Amino acid sequence: MLVLRVLNVVAPAYFLCISLVTFVLQLFLFIPSMFKDPSTTPLFSPALLHGALFLFLSANALGNYILVIQNSPEDLGKCLNSGGGAEVVADRPDRSRSPCSALPSTHFCRLCARVTQRHDHHCFFTGNCIGSRNMRNFVMFCLYTSLACLDSLVAGVAYISAVLSMSFANPLAFLALLPHSISQFFSGALLSSEMFVILMLYLWLGIGLACAGFCSHQILLILRGQTRYQVRKGMVVRARPWRKNLQDVFGKRWLIGLLIPILNVGSDYHRHKDK
Ligand SMILES: [Zn+2]
Repeated sequence: MLVLRVLNVVAPAYFLCISLVTFVLQLFLFIPSMFKDPSTTPLFSPALLHGALFLFLSANALGNYILVIQNSPEDLGKCLNSGGGAEVVADRPDRSRSPCSALPSTHFCRLCARVTQRHDHHCFFTGNCIGSRNMRNFVMFCLYTSLACLDSLVAGVAYISAVLSMSFANPLAFLALLPHSISQFFSGALLSSEMFVILMLYLWLGIGLACAGFCSHQILLILRGQTRYQVRKGMVVRARPWRKNLQDVFGKRWLIGLLIPILNVGSDYHRHKDK
């Protein structure tokens, strides 16, 4: 439990450090190096377009990250006025009449020390539980983090190929870059700043692929109307049309929610709250 508590503090700090380093490298190294290209026109230059794309992706990733934390699933303990856990909810004989137990898969998270409704999983990078309230923002956070990492990877590869006069036309050149650059670094032929950018390339690739995989799996579960917690516990869910499952999570303003980080209005949770 102590390890999990430490991880719950270290993981958000790690995420914020990586975000800060990515911002500094993009804004002070990659984008200024694109402006040095004499063949580009000042207006709608690749540097400006790339800068605008990176700011759009990172604003969405950070905005949804803040919304996930702000909209963490509320404490059902207060609502039930029992101060207990999931066991209390399950044992209540009149739970069908309780508005708080209307949603399935209620769970007590020991790290957050609260009972949450429609619990999916505890996310260490946000230090919060993911449930019906913040699922849409969590999926958007994973998607935009993945895109921002892959965008930084492409910009970083362009920067390294210009600085070191390397060609990445052969895909195997990227795999050989790390062992080659480590040997060059220790022989003094590579600057520490260039070595740092090369290490970040592999980190962005790893985080980008992990977030894309996590996001795809989460969307698959949403389409099936399941939560990660239900899958883990082997709970059987009622079969519903996939459009209905999607609307429960993404709400009515799903299109605007895909483009800008906003609160999830009109979702399943808010409908239950309004009743
Ligand atoms: Zn939790």
